[in-house]
Amino acid sequence: MATTTVESAPTLDETAVQALAAAMRGNLIQPSDPGYDEARTIYNAMIDKHPALIAQCANVADVIAAVNFARDNDIIVAVRGGGHNGPGLSLVDDGLVIDLSAMNGVRVDPVNRTARVEGGALLGDLHHATNAFGLATPSGIISTTGVGGITLGGGLGHLTRQMGLAIDNLLEADVVLADGRFVTANEKENADLFWALRGGGGNFGVVTSFLFKLHPIPNLYAGPMLWPLDRSAEVLRWYREFITNAPDELNGFFAFLTVPAVSPFPEELWNQKMCGVVWAYTGDTPEEVFAPIRAEFGPPALDWVGPISHPALNSMFDGIYPAGDQWYWKADFVTEIPDAAVDIHVQYAAQLPTGKSTMHLYPIDGVAGRVPKDATAWNYRDAKWGMVMVGVSPDPADNEHMIDWTRAYWSALHPYSAGGAYINMMMEEGQDRVRASYGEHYDRLAAIKGKYDPDNLFRVNQNIQPA
Ligand SMILES: Cc1cc2nc3c(=O)[nH]c(=O)nc-3n(C[C@H](O)[C@H](O)[C@H](O)COP(=O)(O)OP(=O)(O)OC[C@H]3O[C@@H](n4cnc5c(N)ncnc54)[C@H](O)[C@@H]3O)c2cc1C
Repeated sequence: MATTTVESAPTLDETAVQALAAAMRGNLIQPSDPGYDEARTIYNAMIDKHPALIAQCANVADVIAAVNFARDNDIIVAVRGGGHNGPGLSLVDDGLVIDLSAMNGVRVDPVNRTARVEGGALLGDLHHATNAFGLATPSGIISTTGVGGITLGGGLGHLTRQMGLAIDNLLEADVVLADGRFVTANEKENADLFWALRGGGGNFGVVTSFLFKLHPIPNLYAGPMLWPLDRSAEVLRWYREFITNAPDELNGFFAFLTVPAVSPFPEELWNQKMCGVVWAYTGDTPEEVFAPIRAEFGPPALDWVGPISHPALNSMFDGIYPAGDQWYWKADFVTEIPDAAVDIHVQYAAQLPTGKSTMHLYPIDGVAGRVPKDATAWNYRDAKWGMVMVGVSPDPADNEHMIDWTRAYWSALHPYSAGGAYINMMMEEGQDRVRASYGEHYDRLAAIKGKYDPDNLFRVNQNIQPA
């Protein structure tokens, strides 16, 4: 079971609760209400937290009312975007959940090539809306992830090498602060807050809307290529050189996986452990780019790379990873993958503990790697990959085994890592790990936290403690 933030249960002032309910356009849900269990269900079924109140906000006014209520009544608060967070940091026992999921509007401005996105929208909402105009902003590999959490943590995805991280395309954010004030943060207004929001997670307030820069995406040629596991050392050694020298138009994340025993996967591959790369190419010479890859090891065992729309690519794995599975993951940034690390990868890939467990290496070079380190709170611009090993299963009986595998795999590779991890792919692992993720940026973040949230109202997150 994942650890949870434990604080003593508050005694709620019933008059104040009634006043909050009256002030909101959305619903305020309490444990005795019929929709309570549904409202406290998030993506990771391993998380079972019981909030005292869930404020399903309909608009910014509701968010302001909820923040003021939490502060004035000294009740711990969690903020829910898409609810995809591994350790379940969008929920809190005995506290108030500010649930943004009904605030999911997206307005595309095709002339200025921007999208204004509400704080509870999912990636599928964003990519669907922008694709209608032939535009895209980079973020994610699954459509059900929340724009809020993924962006505030950084935002890796299929288009990272082409267009950067999600935060590299963030132009502005509207934020409700701990004192209830509504502010806009961009390069000119509240620039310190804007810097901190780009990687600092949900520490600084509730983001009610994001403004993203959009890019034309006339061509997308993408999908997975898989090779047998017994060739994985060879494939990984080739991949580490190839991708770091590839043009920015080509992104490809490396994975170990088990082929699902369902159509449309070829029956002869069902249940086989394999390695693969999920490619995304946005240039205009796909045959030239992919021909040598296909030739290198002979034709891949599975080759689904072809023309595809951006929303289709971003929802390609939704069916394999629906809400309601058990999830446990650990991560690290990686600057190189020496042969000794390749051997460890191969060893643990052979022991994938369940059919859905996996390991991904997401490139963070290309455009993302050229953004100056001090431009945003994201600390690892010089790393080449975000690495994550993930135990996933629909069956809680698998938890112990898959958690052991994830921890052992991570421990074996940690000495070869850059030290810290991507905060969006961590469990609750303590202050040392949070500090390792922010490295030299931690003190600057702590000072900004001290200015905007001195009492640490927003502490259900990978917490930066106010200086
Ligand atoms: C299936 C799956 C696929 C994933 N794929 C990717 C991927 O491709 N790339 C990647 O970078 N990450 C990926 N992730 C990790 C993902 O970025 C994190 O899980 C992230 O926390 C999800 O954000 P959310 O809004 O869905 O989560 P939530 O659980 O709702 O929130 C996560 C954290 O962000 C805070 N937060 C969310 N919205 C707001 C807001 N509007 N204002 C203030 N704080 C907010 C919450 O308080 C919480 O601390 C994936 C996760 C899963 C489970």
